[in-house]
Amino acid sequence: MVIAIDGHVGSGKSTLTKYLAEKLNFRTFNTGSMYRGIACEFISRGYKEEDISEEFMKNFSDNLGDLHIFFDDNNLQHVVVNGTDYTDSLRKEEISIMSAKVSPFSVIREKIVKIQRDFAKNNDCIMEGRDIGTVVLPNADLKLFVTASKEVRAKRRFDQLKEQGKEVDYNEILLALEERDEKDEHREVSSLKPAEDAVILDTSNQTLEENIDSCLEIINNIKNKIKNKI
Ligand code: C5P
Repeated sequence: MVIAIDGHVGSGKSTLTKYLAEKLNFRTFNTGSMYRGIACEFISRGYKEEDISEEFMKNFSDNLGDLHIFFDDNNLQHVVVNGTDYTDSLRKEEISIMSAKVSPFSVIREKIVKIQRDFAKNNDCIMEGRDIGTVVLPNADLKLFVTASKEVRAKRRFDQLKEQGKEVDYNEILLALEERDEKDEHREVSSLKPAEDAVILDTSNQTLEENIDSCLEIINNIKNKIKNKI
């Protein structure tokens, strides 16, 4: 069984994925980690956000054969690009920004999507991202689209960073989140939108437990349907 979970930045999809996978004993695939791994590689090669353009990607594609990406979910979400393990750097703010900058280019997406599809072929899994239900796994057994109001999402991120002892400004977080939404929703390739047959889950006013329970109910119904077909 394969479950696709897409949704906005900070919608709670990663937390939901983690808990559902534990309950179901499924493997997980956080596809954002791969875009983040590539962003790390670009930065380590000395490229900056303003270097990334159509022209850059056209020329860069000559070298893309050199980009070997390895993903493993056994111990955290390990991402290794060209032999460098970037796992510890993936969540840095500059990587969030760079990953949204490099992700719209098909030359990058094609490489990554192949790895994602191969993984889903071989595992019961929950794969989360932006285009899983629409592009990567259009035949997933269940497609969930997780969202929440941008204010709620910014507040969650604010609390998370505060808890880590960081000095943060709520308005800056909200602005950064709006910019990433804008990039993800309005890019030409694989833009963020629910698949036509996706179940929409708005987590703004629900607790994590309520979200998990409603997802498990849907998943159990689908499992029964699959069983009855066999
Ligand atoms: O999910 P996460 O915030 O880690 O993703 C980082 C960035 O990677 C996103 O802002 C988005 O631009 C890109 N991404 C994507 N397609 C996916 C997953 C992530 O374009 N399936």
